[in-house]
Amino acid sequence: MKEMICIVCPRGCHIQVDEQTLEVIGNTCVRGAEYGKNEIVSPMRTVTGSVGIKGGVHRRLAVRTDRAIPKSKMFEIMRELHAFSAVSPVKRGQILIENVCDTGANVIASRDM
Ligand code: SF4
Repeated sequence: MKEMICIVCPRGCHIQVDEQTLEVIGNTCVRGAEYGKNEIVSPMRTVTGSVGIKGGVHRRLAVRTDRAIPKSKMFEIMRELHAFSAVSPVKRGQILIENVCDTGANVIASRDM
């Protein structure tokens, strides 16, 4: 059994997942069961970070992926963010990097700048 905290909602249920059968216990709702199974089979995360920006009021711009990506791709995406630089003006939600690291997710701006 693998123990984890469900992060789908603020309640933070302590759940246990059987790594062989993928049976989940301790969850309060079905979303927790889904989360627990996915954490074993294919853990996913939304990536948040920042990129450099030219011509902005700050030197860095907060960004995030517009959907969850495989956790195994996180470091590759962080390297891509480190190498990328946006150019002001940028609108909140604007796509800055399409299909980042072939994940199907886009990197978008978290704010106007
Ligand atoms: S199991 Fe359901 S209620 Fe509990 S933290 Fe996850 S989503 Fe929230």
